[in-house]
Amino acid sequence: MKYNKKSVEDINVTGKKVLIRCDFNVPQDENGNITNDKRIVASLPTIKYLLENKAKVILCSHLGRPKGKIDMKFSLKPVAESLTKHLGFPVKLASDVIGESAMSLASSVKEGEAILLENVRFHEEEEKNDPEFAKKLASLADIYVNDAFGTAHRAHASTAGVAAYIPAVCGFLIQKEITIMGKALENPKRPLVAILGGAKVSDKIGVINNLLEKCDTIIIGGGMAYTFLKAEGLEIGKSLLEEDKTSYALEMINKAKQKGVKMLLPTDVLAADTFAADSPYIIADCTSIPEDKMGLDIGPKTIQSYTNAIHGSGTVIWNGPMGVFEFENFSKGTSAIANAIANENGVISIIGGGDSVAAVKKLGYSDKMTHISTGGGASLEFLEGLELPGIACLLDK
Ligand code: AMP
Repeated sequence: MKYNKKSVEDINVTGKKVLIRCDFNVPQDENGNITNDKRIVASLPTIKYLLENKAKVILCSHLGRPKGKIDMKFSLKPVAESLTKHLGFPVKLASDVIGESAMSLASSVKEGEAILLENVRFHEEEEKNDPEFAKKLASLADIYVNDAFGTAHRAHASTAGVAAYIPAVCGFLIQKEITIMGKALENPKRPLVAILGGAKVSDKIGVINNLLEKCDTIIIGGGMAYTFLKAEGLEIGKSLLEEDKTSYALEMINKAKQKGVKMLLPTDVLAADTFAADSPYIIADCTSIPEDKMGLDIGPKTIQSYTNAIHGSGTVIWNGPMGVFEFENFSKGTSAIANAIANENGVISIIGGGDSVAAVKKLGYSDKMTHISTGGGASLEFLEGLELPGIACLLDK
């Protein structure tokens, strides 16, 4: 999907009330303290740009899953406090989303100031994308800015519905996501190497299919590799298998051949006795995985061949770990891939959300990657070539 959307820089915001949909869905401890404020920090460039350009800023977000009811456990109060610290002036929190408090604060917000609405998911209308709710939310502002990539694949009132009523553009976070990922898919620096891992084939069906249209090499690792090996007629012992996806896997193997895409599957694995961190394991060739063992990571030969494939690549898109990286003994494959990408000179590296992001961060390679997507589900749908409602609704350039 190629998006060419207007951003905050393409619209006059001075003196205008601007509703920004942010992703303030931050992790909290049992006392409600924010344990990691990276999402808040990531939203600051867009917010500051609007403040500097004398907009009247109205912020909104969801937090957790209050299931359409007011539940103060999911209040955005800690977010308002964090924003106050980061922005250096008091960010007032409305006690509702579209009620009297929101309307009164939104009508009194001054140029260069910001207020925050309560959790949009306190209303069940939010996730239902109820038009009346979206209209009321939109009525608080003159312009809508979506900067929450993590929810851009959802057609909710605050992520898409509001755009039907007021001019809608993207913030810097979404702009970066669609520019970098869009280019990687539509006009990549070649060779384009796609690396897919993680637990299940079924989660990545659309992604594999779409990337086979675009990439030069596709590398398959993680639990899903075993369904591919089985499809090739190999015995995989007790490794993860999605029996009903073997014919799909075979179809993808054949599609790769037809398209001239190099598909790399594991040739050896770490085969463990049980699914446990301290399980004994052996290095097994994929032609002879013992009946009573399960592959929990790629083996040294496979690491070498995958590393070789990354070497010399122009663009790498990576989604999903190569093994059960949560267990130290079975994290070597994932670390080796992260290491190879991080140290590849001149490569455009895109880490597409979820567990591969966690792995890259854990290894301290975040700064060495071109782009780490801020949305797991949204980046998968983007790679799948699906339309993201939270982006499709924005004004075209
Ligand atoms: P996903 O959310 O689809 O990216 O999958 C990530 C999960 O896949 C992680 O929790 C990994 O532990 C798991 N995983 C990776 N490789 C394997 C494997 N060989 N067997 C079982 N689970 C795996």
